[in-house]
Amino acid sequence: MKVASVLIPLPVPEAFDYEVPEAFDVARGDQVAVPLGPRLIRGIVAEARETTGSNRRLKAIDHVLDDPRLPERTVDFVEWAARWTLSAPGEMASAALKGLRAPRPRPERRVRRVGDRSPARPTAARTAVLEALGQRSMPGPDLARAANVSSGVVKGLLDEGVLEAIEIEAIAAFDAPDPDHAPATLNPDQAAAADAIGAAAAEGGFKPFLLDGVTGSGKTEAYLEAAARALRADPAAQVLILLPEIALTQALIERISHRFGAAPAEWHSGVAPPRRRQVWEAVQAGRCNIVVGARSALFLPYVNLKLIVVDEEHDGSFKQEEGLVYHGRDLAVARARIEGATVVLASATPSLETLWNAHQGRYRWLKLGARHGAAVLPDIKLLDLRENAPDPQTWLSQPLREAIGETLLKREQTLLFLNRRGYAPVVLCRVCGHRMTAPDTDSWLVEHRYTGRLVCHLTGFSMLRPKACPSCGAEDSLVSVGPGVERVEEEVRNLFPEARTAVFSSDTVPDGKSARALIQSMADGEIDILVATQAAAKGHNFPLLTLVGVVDADLGLRGGDLRAAERTFQLLTQATGRAGRADKPGRAILQTWTPEHPVLQALAAGDRDAFVEAEMAEREAASLPPYGRLAALILSGENAQAVEKVARELAEAIPNAERLEVYGPADAPLALVRGRRRKRLLVRADRDVDLQGFLRVWLSRVKVPASVRLNVDVDPYSFL
Ligand code: ADP
Repeated sequence: MKVASVLIPLPVPEAFDYEVPEAFDVARGDQVAVPLGPRLIRGIVAEARETTGSNRRLKAIDHVLDDPRLPERTVDFVEWAARWTLSAPGEMASAALKGLRAPRPRPERRVRRVGDRSPARPTAARTAVLEALGQRSMPGPDLARAANVSSGVVKGLLDEGVLEAIEIEAIAAFDAPDPDHAPATLNPDQAAAADAIGAAAAEGGFKPFLLDGVTGSGKTEAYLEAAARALRADPAAQVLILLPEIALTQALIERISHRFGAAPAEWHSGVAPPRRRQVWEAVQAGRCNIVVGARSALFLPYVNLKLIVVDEEHDGSFKQEEGLVYHGRDLAVARARIEGATVVLASATPSLETLWNAHQGRYRWLKLGARHGAAVLPDIKLLDLRENAPDPQTWLSQPLREAIGETLLKREQTLLFLNRRGYAPVVLCRVCGHRMTAPDTDSWLVEHRYTGRLVCHLTGFSMLRPKACPSCGAEDSLVSVGPGVERVEEEVRNLFPEARTAVFSSDTVPDGKSARALIQSMADGEIDILVATQAAAKGHNFPLLTLVGVVDADLGLRGGDLRAAERTFQLLTQATGRAGRADKPGRAILQTWTPEHPVLQALAAGDRDAFVEAEMAEREAASLPPYGRLAALILSGENAQAVEKVARELAEAIPNAERLEVYGPADAPLALVRGRRRKRLLVRADRDVDLQGFLRVWLSRVKVPASVRLNVDVDPYSFL
């Protein structure tokens, strides 16, 4: 008898076995319909094998779906990713089918003549239609316009059977990129990097690289040249470039179109589903060479993947926290290993994990020197707020105000960076001290002035700003505490009413289109002062920007989780790196209450190595990543007792293990979200411990009731 293991999109730990009817021929990667209870559901064949009879009666595969087979290595990848993240393999597999589930683009409707049929009453209008059409096919409205008649005339001819309606399928054509279309002349560092990566990708085999160079040193230029070499060696080669933010894709797509004379495919949640289906099919059929996308593009069914680039590899946005929990950068390295491909992690501020791998010699370390051409790194100055405190209820110190004024006079641009959305992060009652909090979540409400609402940034809950304090009832007693970008913009408008000022945050630019428009008007010099959250700190090129002011350089340092210092260093390096990219020198001013902080000292000195060395030493002393590994278990549920019970059972079921500790269970820092109680456990293990194996044994010992959710987060980035 033939049996197939089938991955089905359910939270179950293994594939289900089904009998394969004699007439069917199935292999790994085939899509099949299988019975599950009373329903038929879509599954992916993980394995088909002969058995000599089974003592269980298996249900049979219902039929093989007329959909493309997933490439074998794509199945290898989803199975590996599921094991690594402790996710259900069927759910991981369904991430690889996302594009296929979307509807096809609507076919185009056209009309054409039926044989030589003529109208019974050939009016002038009807004759004009038939003459305009000739033997071609045309969309009905175009035909009416061409013949200068109303659409009713065309419809009349359709009704009479003189014309017929036809549909034409749209197949997406991805023009082949031309590696020699518009190559850049690389400087020696760039050429050496492009050579090394390009040769590796052309040769094949798993080869990981760290491409390390300051913002503007030409990392993009170098990896595009490497892609060109891979394409010269094999015109069917596929190249995947991952970016952390959708807002960055457009600029790269334009650069690639310019460099290769053909637009790459774009893949992220902002791409319309019918288009995603076209990309999926083209990637699976090998009709598409270059894909630019967000982390989910890792799950596309590549057939000849030669090169993966993870640009801004240090960026926390590569970690997906909802649904399937995975780190896009880590899975990119795994995918490259499975595909036998080259992977490039590019950054001006690599993550400590990646630096560690480079130090160990696991990744080949390519360094790019100074900025390309005349551009030099900005001069960074720490501004001690203890000596230059801003006036009450303002946030910009006198020296920063003066610098903005000077920049305006020179007709250059200023970026004021504050990583806080809205107007004020806290609203409280001046009479009773009540803080405005969300009703069902442990978070303070953030005031947004544009909309007049108080918003929970965690859940999206919002309410109108009340007139009276909900706690003591005092009228007009609520005060806004602290600044967000909207409040800094208000201050800037008061100080420089003649300047053209704008705010860049996920509230003012909610989608890719508005982000592109704002980035373009900044690049065109139509904005003098841009007040921005981290959304604008990354990757963009603003030639006239010469001053970056960091409103609160201490902000990220206060959080105190594992990566607080690392993240702050990276973010502020990115933000200050925006200044002076073209021929004009730039400067950055960081407002701080703690200028002696090592992170800020390293930033001001432009000494990344000093920062990395100090931070690595701390991590090593505590055996924390990258010297050790972490995993978090997060329990949540509406019933506090049920959550408590599972937490207790987990604590009692911890398997014996050496060089591994379990902390908790404890209330999560966010102990209540959307009415659900949350508890956390944290596992720390030495690097050589089989952490996933430990977790599998542990979790198999505890039965979690349906009312409680257990999320496993391997290598967690959020500790909330
Ligand atoms: P990074 O990716 O390291 O931030 P980019 O590749 O975006 O750097 O380069 C920064 C700027 O310098 C871009 O405008 C790019 O076009 C330009 N540039 C870099 N290298 C070259 C080169 N070899 N020839 C021409 N322009 C270059």
